[in-house]
Amino acid sequence: MESLAQVIDCEAEYQLETAVKCNQCSQMFDTVQVIRLLRKKVNFTSALPRRGYLVVCPNCHTVVPAVIGGRTV
Ligand SMILES: [Zn+2]
Repeated sequence: MESLAQVIDCEAEYQLETAVKCNQCSQMFDTVQVIRLLRKKVNFTSALPRRGYLVVCPNCHTVVPAVIGGRTV
């Protein structure tokens, strides 16, 4: 059976220095997957950036807190 981890279309994968346990699925993991956010709709006066990133557990794809390039995502 193909796992969800194999079918996800992620932007990148990051290696963790130490394995951590996912709050949701209780699995240990040492990589996280990064999914790109593309702005689809925006208020004319909005100063929100055009894109962002979501970091998820590689096993269950629950969003995990992370910082990429100095930005909290
Ligand atoms: Zn998980």
